[in-house]
Amino acid sequence: MVNASFSPRPILALPDQLISQIAAGEVIERPAAVVKELLENALDAGATQIAIRLENGGVKRTAISDNGRGIPHEQLPLALQRHATSKIASLDELENVATLGFRGEALASIASVANLTLTSRTANAAHAWAIRHAGGQTTVSPSSGAIGTTVDVQDLYAHTPARRKFLKSEQTEYGHCAEVVRRIALSRPDVSFTLSHNGKTTAQWNASETARRSAQILGDEFAEARLPLEHAAGDEHDGLRLSGFVGLPTAARNRADAQYFYVNGRFVRDKLLTHAVRAAYQDVLHGDRYPAYLLQLELNPALVDVNVHPSKIEVRFRDSRAVHQFVFHAISRALAQTAASSADMPPAALPSISSANLTATRWIPEPKQASFSSAFGTSSGSSFGASFGASIGIEQRTEDYGAFFSRPATTPGWTANIAPQEQETPDEHPLGFALAQLHNIYILAQNAKGLVLVDMHAAHERIVYEQMKTALDQQVMPVQELLIPVTFFADSIEVGTAEEHRATLADLGFDIAALSPETLAVRALPAPLKHADAEALARELLRELRELNHSRILTEKRNALLATAACHGSVRAGRSLTVPEMNALLRQMEATERAGQCNHGRPTWVQLSATDLDNLFLRGQ
Ligand code: ADP
Ligand code: MG
Repeated sequence: MVNASFSPRPILALPDQLISQIAAGEVIERPAAVVKELLENALDAGATQIAIRLENGGVKRTAISDNGRGIPHEQLPLALQRHATSKIASLDELENVATLGFRGEALASIASVANLTLTSRTANAAHAWAIRHAGGQTTVSPSSGAIGTTVDVQDLYAHTPARRKFLKSEQTEYGHCAEVVRRIALSRPDVSFTLSHNGKTTAQWNASETARRSAQILGDEFAEARLPLEHAAGDEHDGLRLSGFVGLPTAARNRADAQYFYVNGRFVRDKLLTHAVRAAYQDVLHGDRYPAYLLQLELNPALVDVNVHPSKIEVRFRDSRAVHQFVFHAISRALAQTAASSADMPPAALPSISSANLTATRWIPEPKQASFSSAFGTSSGSSFGASFGASIGIEQRTEDYGAFFSRPATTPGWTANIAPQEQETPDEHPLGFALAQLHNIYILAQNAKGLVLVDMHAAHERIVYEQMKTALDQQVMPVQELLIPVTFFADSIEVGTAEEHRATLADLGFDIAALSPETLAVRALPAPLKHADAEALARELLRELRELNHSRILTEKRNALLATAACHGSVRAGRSLTVPEMNALLRQMEATERAGQCNHGRPTWVQLSATDLDNLFLRGQ
């Protein structure tokens, strides 16, 4: 067998049919690929209604009908020829291609591995014509049918049994076909689709717009927990535009099964784009959760090469860095603003009260709220430290909050001993005012709408994290030297890591020194964390530093380190807070970007409106 490849055979040009069969191996790897190619042809032909009929997972039959412009009768034989296309005629056109197809090989490839009948009628033809390719024979004959095209593909791989063996069960193949239909239907909500399998209609979507189509296809869960996104760069950036919906981190999934990214209308799985999205979510999502999204990137077709993969699922950008940055920033911004403010939340989003369907609501932090910390001091460094001191240490709280409450009033008349909700306009404090603490875990607060429940540790963790990140970005991380360093026994790996990463740790605000081969001393901490358990925090950081890819720590992994630090430095569940302390936490949440989720993507607070509570008690029913 092995020697076969050395057999002294003459070089021969392969017959056309065999070339197509080889090409089909790449392009038509399973029935879903037939569905994809035929759907793309229908869309390229301007169809607005498309019907897909499948039998036995598409293996026995895949028939797709469209109401597009059809193929003139005399061109029918060309349509089935390899490298015959109406879509491009020159290299220049290839580089600017705006159609989904252009290689001119799909129909030829399909015809080489299945029996294919194409029936088509153009607007000015008296009747339809059919071209049939079966058993190596091609025939054209008059036929009947409406304007448009039907391609009927039967007995896929009947003549290439080796391929047939690679097919999975009927249900699996059908699943792949249906996913292809979903992908395409998501990108073209303006087109109506019907899908049937073995005679049963399995999906029907009438023409509408992206919001509705995606709700139909991706489900209510996505529809209710997503942020709309619309971001365009100026012309100087090649007219980049990103639009669609990003799922809220709180609605992330444990599989990457609801991620749809399109480039100029074409579904792609592209490493660069996936990475950009992932990076944008990194701050608000735990690493083992997958966000749902539906995103359309548009750019000048000349700046993206779609001809790098036979089924065009990968693309290559001329300026990949710019595209990465653009996508990353667009999504980061959308997530930071968490635009579904509690005011916009439709009542239907909280249909009934149970812990499973509580919907986290959030607000848009306004600039005036963000200036909260500036009330504490003039220089950025000291204001940072002061606002932080206010929230971290229990011992220190009282006096810090004293400063807060007696500050000259942006909120006139506000003092610690007056029931504040009577004095405040509701929109100024969307999270309202604390009423009580529940089991030392949750804060109960009252706002204009009703009851707010806050997970105090999660909320505080987010605040500490965002504030440390800002401080680090502005290189004003305030450092707290410890009067008495915290020393602890460490193993040689911990000591080695501390020495190796001294500079990184110093940048983060830590001074961790080796006193002996088995003793480490924490001599300074970032001020926001001064009340954290220094030893536990140091150990955790060193463990993470060791596990991270060293060269990229500060840029990419910095935020992961901050998240660890923030978790340690935050008010632990189980501590009891006074009402003023709780109110200070609520105000800090309002002033903090992304405070709607903790660093692990869990919600930090939920709103229960008066109506929700009424429903709970069946009032007025
Ligand atoms: P490509 O799409 O790359 O051009 P195909 O082999 O898929 O190659 O199709 C060959 C040609 O047949 C297309 O260029 C188009 O002119 C014509 N065609 C195929 N399907 C349809 C259709 N559903 N409606 C109208 N024209 C079609
Ligand atoms: Mg095509």
